[in-house]
Parts: sequence; C-alpha cells; structure tokens
Amino acid sequence: MCDLPGTTDEHIPPRAIFPEAKDAEGRNYRIDLITVPSCPDHNTAKSDDDEFLMVSLAGIMATTWAKIRVMSQHD
Ligand SMILES: [Zn+2]
Repeated sequence: MCDLPGTTDEHIPPRAIFPEAKDAEGRNYRIDLITVPSCPDHNTAKSDDDEFLMVSLAGIMATTWAKIRVMSQHD
C-alpha cells in the first residue's frame, strides 16, 4: 500500500459480497468481518473494485445456475 496512516478499516473480503440483513431474512452477515487499516484514499478507491467484484460474481452465478437448469432438463 502507501505510507499514509491507516485511519480507516478496509474489509477483507469486501462487505459488498455479504447480503444485507433485509435480503437475508433479518440475519446480519456483515458483523465481525475481518478488517485491515487503510488510508482513506485507498479505502475509497477500492470500493469501486469491490462493487465491480460483487456485480461480476452475481453475473457469473446467474449464468452458472441457468446452465445447470438447462442441463438438468436434458435427463
Ligand atoms: Zn493508501
């Protein structure tokens, strides 16, 4: 990283990949996550990457489930 002081908490893995409580029947999967110190600039810069990762994973999972559904109909 850089030489600036780590004054913010960066979540590893990103919080965005855990569902919000409203989407998980009230269960909060975003507590007690692992964090590392990060300077504000790098923490903010990584947020865009975290969002891209979450959207990419959602797309990959949707495609994979669609393929599995098609394959299971050919039995
Ligand atoms: Zn930094």
